[in-house]
Amino acid sequence: MNQSLIPAAKPIIGDEERAAVDAVLRSGMVAQGPQVAAFEEEFAEQLVEGRRCQAVSSGTAGLHVGLLASGVGPGDEVIVPSFTFAATANSVALTGATPVFADIDPDTFCLDPESVRAAVTERTRGVMPVHLYGHPADMVAFEALAAELGLEIYEDAAQAHGASLHGRKVGTWGRFAMFSLYPTKNMTSGEGGMVSCADEAVARMVRLLRNQGMERQYANEVIGLNVRMTDIHAAIGRVQLGKLPAWTARRQANAAFFDEHLTGVVTPPVADGAVHVYHQYTIRVEASERDRMVTALREEHGVGTGVYYPIPNHRLSSLEQYAPAHELPQTEKAAGEVISLPVHPSLSQEDLERVVSGVNAVAKAGA
Ligand SMILES: *Cc1c(COP(=O)(O)O)cnc(C)c1O
Repeated sequence: MNQSLIPAAKPIIGDEERAAVDAVLRSGMVAQGPQVAAFEEEFAEQLVEGRRCQAVSSGTAGLHVGLLASGVGPGDEVIVPSFTFAATANSVALTGATPVFADIDPDTFCLDPESVRAAVTERTRGVMPVHLYGHPADMVAFEALAAELGLEIYEDAAQAHGASLHGRKVGTWGRFAMFSLYPTKNMTSGEGGMVSCADEAVARMVRLLRNQGMERQYANEVIGLNVRMTDIHAAIGRVQLGKLPAWTARRQANAAFFDEHLTGVVTPPVADGAVHVYHQYTIRVEASERDRMVTALREEHGVGTGVYYPIPNHRLSSLEQYAPAHELPQTEKAAGEVISLPVHPSLSQEDLERVVSGVNAVAKAGA
């Protein structure tokens, strides 16, 4: 192979981000300060319809303090998907509550409302849908279910900046929602997370928990952590926020090209009323063919791919203690079949064509 590998993901950091960091460093004020405050306001305005936003040091920290701020703790159950990154269930377990795994919808890869209903017990406090790969979970169904059964909604929007359902943005349904700002996500601050909050009570508790339980210096009100974001990271995030709309449009255009030209694989459907922001463009292939195809794409076509996620959370040694008694058939099936193709905004037309011809060739070879 004499061509360079098209990477599965590629963070884009430009001169503007470097200049913004330099300005913060020159100011001498690098910890949480005015950049963080401005980032929170701009993020709220652009992505969550003005909901209060609090910046934290990572997406995982955001889930953790969001759950703590919502009062989740020992004795509670929170229903989560098993087909996601382990941070979803980890954050529930770290509060002392029990993550309860439910199955996914095979089309959207997101939590299935009927499977959630079947998992509800008298201890269920809430449900945490993940907008996986950038596709919104079925929030209309979850809102109805939550109202019917008295549950809270918490959103893991780590992968879904700007996604929406029937015109309403993700991150506006939950008591809180978390967006990750890790380098491979749709936008980054280096490391970081943003927590959008339904009301001032949750927002204030998130602010307290991220800063040692203090609002006024040395007047600690609750037992808290230090999960603050620095102004250095916020300065990067603010520049990226400005670039996000164009990047999202590129991801969507890349996905449309794949939808049109891929053959012999199952392309990702988009639910009615959903705006997908394609953190990942994830196809399905025969499970028996998957690993061969991943290798052939890399070795013969120079196409890097990802498998998110090969092992469902309830089978991980860290989380198997929470494995449900029943099967999660759609979760197992997806874990065996998925391949995520490069869909990031830095792909050239040539790259897109190479991805298509590579996938179509390896799919045909296996048929
Ligand atoms: C990335 C991610 C997280 C964690 O975010 P970090 O910023 O890496 O801590 C949580 N949930 C999902 C679904 C993710 O993709």
